[in-house]
Amino acid sequence: MIWETVIGLEIHAELYTKTKIFCSCSTSFGNAPNTQCCPVCTAMPGALPTLNKQVPELALKAGLALGCTVTKHTKFDRKNYFYPDLPKAYQISQLYAPILRNGHLTIFTDNSEKDIRISEIHMEEDAGKLIHDNESGISKIDYNRCGVPLIEIVTAPDFRTAAEVTSFIEELSAILRYTNVCDCKMQEGSLRVDVNLSVRPEGTELLGTRTEMKNLNSIKAISRAINFEAERQIAILRQGGKISQETRRWDDDKGISTSMRTKENANDYRYFPEPDLPPIVIEEAYLSALKDSLPELPQAKRQRYIAKFGLTPYEATMISNRKSLAEFFEKTLALCNDPKEVSNRLLGDGLKMLNETGLNIEDSFITPDKLALLIDKTNKKTLTRQQSKEIFELCFTKSIDIEQYILEKGLCPITNTDTISEAVKNTLLKHPDTVKEYLSGKTKVFGFLVGQTMRSLKGSADPALVNNILKEQLNLLQNNE
Ligand code: ADP
Ligand code: ZN
Ligand code: MG
Repeated sequence: MIWETVIGLEIHAELYTKTKIFCSCSTSFGNAPNTQCCPVCTAMPGALPTLNKQVPELALKAGLALGCTVTKHTKFDRKNYFYPDLPKAYQISQLYAPILRNGHLTIFTDNSEKDIRISEIHMEEDAGKLIHDNESGISKIDYNRCGVPLIEIVTAPDFRTAAEVTSFIEELSAILRYTNVCDCKMQEGSLRVDVNLSVRPEGTELLGTRTEMKNLNSIKAISRAINFEAERQIAILRQGGKISQETRRWDDDKGISTSMRTKENANDYRYFPEPDLPPIVIEEAYLSALKDSLPELPQAKRQRYIAKFGLTPYEATMISNRKSLAEFFEKTLALCNDPKEVSNRLLGDGLKMLNETGLNIEDSFITPDKLALLIDKTNKKTLTRQQSKEIFELCFTKSIDIEQYILEKGLCPITNTDTISEAVKNTLLKHPDTVKEYLSGKTKVFGFLVGQTMRSLKGSADPALVNNILKEQLNLLQNNE
């Protein structure tokens, strides 16, 4: 029997606000424990919540970007449970009237498109953080995260593979970053994904019993967890066993998931409407102003890049999914009308340098006018590709005046034919076997000989000249044979 995997996601995204959802404590990450707390977020008796207006605003921005329907009369509900990271012993969340419903997001895998349905998006507060010290056996609590605003995005069980889930998280992150809703740093916990997964015989409709996996903090971990869990469930069913509906914890070091709690002792949250907060009415004028304030979204940008600039879907996606890169791309294009070349430089040496330096492009010294200048000089052949590549890379970490740098270093392509002839001669002497191959008709090796000659000239020769001179000398050898 062939088994099909069915996956639905519940995604928590921390909203990009300065202050918490119901008090004015800071939301900034990574500070000393319990330094961002007040009577409201630590649940002192009598303290009352006041809603941060930015929270519904950011939730709505996300929802509008995801094609959701807005719940015009929305309200908060109380979700009761006890856990030490939750000082009120309830979480203010939404159950009965989530602010957004029925959205969708298109994902891309193997050049095919698929629509993933989003069932709802609701607002809620985050809990604190328990820090377990295995050595002493003591657990400590940091309440800084208590009351940080979240949206929870719930999808329909529309995914079939880990690749689809990966694409969704990437597309979603791009949208949330573009709209300044969330910074989506999974490693800092600002985007957290729970994976609900079941399997069923291929071709059947009925959903199997699902498990829910938590503690997934990278896209790679999510993929591994999905593949592990699907195989685990299939193995159980093949042996005639039953899947028990449970929450499982993924251990990324060991590459396994283990049971945390089963349905039998599942929580009963006793939800009821939150009495300390009034319902929210979302007015049409406010909503349409918000719609107008949305930037061009990454998917629209991608399509424009493909249609207008002739980029491949891959190139267009790589650039459009990062707002800062897309801005850089468009600003450079305004100065130099060579989209393919700008894209090549950004995705090749550009991304390489960003990875190596750990910088964002806006924090590096490279600017659109510098890249445009380098491309222009390369196209006009006053710099070789290699020279302009080296300057481009330098520009990431140093503030360089390109014109001055070229003057100081005396950079210009070597066009002196004697120098190039000499280098070609040396290459031919150094690689007699390759020369023999060429002469016997294997003309493919020509490129290798060009490469070797360019290398010996440190990339500073005019490649067209190298080509010509190399051909001449090889022809001479051919005629002499
Ligand atoms: P609950 O009320 O228990 O939270 P929901 O119906 O809200 O359950 O679903 C939670 C998540 O689990 C959603 O993302 C949904 O798509 C997914 N899900 C529900 N049933 C299944 C199933 N049988 N297999 C895989 N995913 C499922
Ligand atoms: Zn507070
Ligand atoms: Mg649910």
